[in-house]
Amino acid sequence: MHVEVKLSKRKCQWCGCAFESAHPSKMFCTKDHQNQFGNFMASRGKVLMPIALSWRTQRGRKGVGSEALAEMVAFLDKCAAELADQGAPPIAQHFKRVRAEGTGIVTGRAVVRVRPSRSKFYG
Ligand SMILES: [Zn+2]
Repeated sequence: MHVEVKLSKRKCQWCGCAFESAHPSKMFCTKDHQNQFGNFMASRGKVLMPIALSWRTQRGRKGVGSEALAEMVAFLDKCAAELADQGAPPIAQHFKRVRAEGTGIVTGRAVVRVRPSRSKFYG
């Protein structure tokens, strides 16, 4: 018996090539490109996180906080250019799909503001 598998067309999030897959969540043409994308994000994330956290916790203060936003923006522009040179499609498409699956990040009124420096547990 012939079973028809419906293939959908999509773009590899690393190289930008068109490929078909029956699996709805597949975003890369090969496992190698999935790994390269993951390595790119992990290595840039290691650089970005300390800068982003410095900005978030120290913004408005002289020194590291006030410079962190400009540094973060410059680094993100560099990363976006690297991805474009690589042939990757705009990252917003990737984010839209990942976000649809749930990032675990809660925003708006549901956000619980934690101030560790004023917390009874840490004071
Ligand atoms: Zn690819």
